[in-house]
Amino acid sequence: VVASMAHLQEEKMRLQEELLGLREKLAARENEELSRSLQLQSQVEALKAKLLEQAQEINRLRSELGGTDTEKHRALLAAENECLRQEMKTCEGELLELRRQQQATPCQDCAHLQENADLRERVSQLQQEAEEARAKVAELDLEVQQKTNRLAEVELRLKDSLAERAEEEERLSRRLRDSQETIANLKSQPQQIKYIIKTVEVESAKAKQALCESQSRNQYLQEQVGMQRQVLKEMEQQLQSSQKTVAQLRAQMVMYEAELERAHGQMLEEMQAMEEEKNQAIEEAFSRAQVEMKAVHENLAGVRTNLLTLQPALRTLTHDYNSLKRQVRDFPLLLQEALRNARAEISQAIEEVHSTNRELLRKYRRELQLRKKCHNELVRLKGNIRVFGRVRPITKEDGEGPEAANAVTFDADDDAILHLLHKGKQVSFELDKVFPPQASQEEVFQEVQALVTSCIDGYNVCIFAYGQTGAGKTYTMEGTAANPGINQRALQLLFSEVRGKEADWDYAISVSAAEIYNESLRDLLGKEPQEKLEIKLCPDGSGQLYVPGLTEFRVQCVEDINKVFEFGHVNRATECTNLNEHSSRSHALLIVTVRGLDRSTGLRTTGKLNLVDLAGSERVGRSGAEGNRLREAQHINKSLSALGDVIYALRSRQGHVPFRNSKLTYLLQDSLSGDSKTLMMVQVSPAEKNSSETLCSLKFAERVRSVELGPVSRKAELASWPSQEQLEGDSPGTSVPSSRGHAAPSPGQLSNRSASIRRKLQTSG
Ligand code: ADP
Ligand code: MG
Repeated sequence: VVASMAHLQEEKMRLQEELLGLREKLAARENEELSRSLQLQSQVEALKAKLLEQAQEINRLRSELGGTDTEKHRALLAAENECLRQEMKTCEGELLELRRQQQATPCQDCAHLQENADLRERVSQLQQEAEEARAKVAELDLEVQQKTNRLAEVELRLKDSLAERAEEEERLSRRLRDSQETIANLKSQPQQIKYIIKTVEVESAKAKQALCESQSRNQYLQEQVGMQRQVLKEMEQQLQSSQKTVAQLRAQMVMYEAELERAHGQMLEEMQAMEEEKNQAIEEAFSRAQVEMKAVHENLAGVRTNLLTLQPALRTLTHDYNSLKRQVRDFPLLLQEALRNARAEISQAIEEVHSTNRELLRKYRRELQLRKKCHNELVRLKGNIRVFGRVRPITKEDGEGPEAANAVTFDADDDAILHLLHKGKQVSFELDKVFPPQASQEEVFQEVQALVTSCIDGYNVCIFAYGQTGAGKTYTMEGTAANPGINQRALQLLFSEVRGKEADWDYAISVSAAEIYNESLRDLLGKEPQEKLEIKLCPDGSGQLYVPGLTEFRVQCVEDINKVFEFGHVNRATECTNLNEHSSRSHALLIVTVRGLDRSTGLRTTGKLNLVDLAGSERVGRSGAEGNRLREAQHINKSLSALGDVIYALRSRQGHVPFRNSKLTYLLQDSLSGDSKTLMMVQVSPAEKNSSETLCSLKFAERVRSVELGPVSRKAELASWPSQEQLEGDSPGTSVPSSRGHAAPSPGQLSNRSASIRRKLQTSG
């Protein structure tokens, strides 16, 4: 109802606005008409003034000339002028009437406005033309007046000359009479008369001459009068023509006025039509509004009935509201009661949870200890020191021909067996695992990752890459950018493992990089890489070793590792002339320290992962080597032998482990002893030309691996452990006193491998 009322109101407002607009337009048009009629009035006034002037002039001329022909014309003209004036007056009256009518019947804005404007323009044109005609009449009047003036002048002159002639004639006739009297007197007196006649004759001749003169003059004057008459005639003609023009102009004026009237009529009609339209529109709107009003009223009635039905509902609602209000008033009390109960229940539950938690924590700690124990046992059973072999593929550098032929083959059923063809004989070796050339970095790492993760649990780990230069040590440890090796993969694994344990543990992973060359230790991440570092005992009396001044970088992501590696490489490269040669004659160490804190138990762990790319194990021709090269060879030889000795001593569980025999073993003492884990990755080349070096490397591997026997054989092992130099001279199967032997094991031996493992279990058990 309200909406329809509002709609009606709007409709009403709109109509009122329309009405207002129309009124404004009408007022504007009225103003226009008023100004135009004022203009016309002023024009009429001007014409009246002119007419008055003309009338005065005519009167003046009439008084001057009297009743001549011209005067008659003038009178005629005056009469005409009067007539014109009358017409003008009627025109004026009409105009006034028109204006009144316009005011009485205002016009609505419509399409006829344009027509009106045209008509008005036409009227103004006609008025202008009438004005022009009036100006022409005034001009002609002026001319007539001038001519009348001239005529009056001429007439005056004619009068004067006529008077003169009459005077002259009179004088002459008087003289003639006098003369005739005198002649008569003289006739009466003959003598005297004769003389007098004579004189008179003489005198009469003179008189005659004067008469002649006066006659000619008379003639001239008459001619002039004729001329003047002619002029007068012309002027009359001119007057006639000007009267004709005036008549024409009058006719035109009449015509124009008729047109004006017609335009006015049209305008009036249009205004009438518009008024009617407006009235009709208003009526329609009004009827519409009435209809809508009716509908609204009906709606209102409906609403009223609705209201009547709603009232009971409202009553029930009020009732509900009141009851709710009561409930709300009582609610805080109820709530307090409930809260009290809930609090008691919660504190009880918390207490229960607490006790279970304590119990769980106790169990967890026990489990943790058990797990470590189990792990240790497992590792011990598997052997803390494991030896893997990796054979690189044949590369372009190996050249072509028989020298580059493949000398290494594998056992299809056993991935721990490897056969080498050396000097026409096939020698077999058994390691913990052998990776063939097609083994990917990923596969290699999969075998290594258990070691790496044990570092998180606080174990120390060493991974060595052993082998002759070019056998793939660096490839295995560092790898390439596209195919990274153990170093990068290990750190990535550590990051992801640490992230997985974030909920309970806080871990910090830091990295150091060092190099051992000619038995001196250098920091590859330090500010002064050429500086030699010392290995010292911790002053805290824990018996632990440390390297004062060794730089340690905290790493948190792969980008950090890459930066550290790059920095280490740059430092290493700037310190030597030939990086390849230098790297093959020095040991490169990457030391990763993982420190952990179990937030729930407060347990702290520290694990160290040592990734070592050893110097090339190849034998240097003793005859050719001199000076620096010889010294390098001796140092490498010594440190690799020392490593072998240490591993041997560890695996045979000797009381004394000769860690101090080389910088490398001394530095790694912590990570080699106790329950630390060691992996020796022996890298070999498959090429025929490298078979001697391959043989040496495999012998080293097998010997390292075979030391884990019972205490009885340990001694024998100790006695038989060869130096690096001895290794060089060894031929397969000759100087291997170990029970497992270095020569190819017989098929029986291989099939008895499981038995040997069982034996191992028993001995270590
Ligand atoms: P080392 O460090 O023992 O002197 P490198 O790691 O430098 O030997 O390897 C010598 C060459 O052989 C390098 O060009 C290396 O890319 C390549 N190489 C070594 N091992 C592999 C392998 N498993 N797969 C492919 N290429 C290898
Ligand atoms: Mg290398």
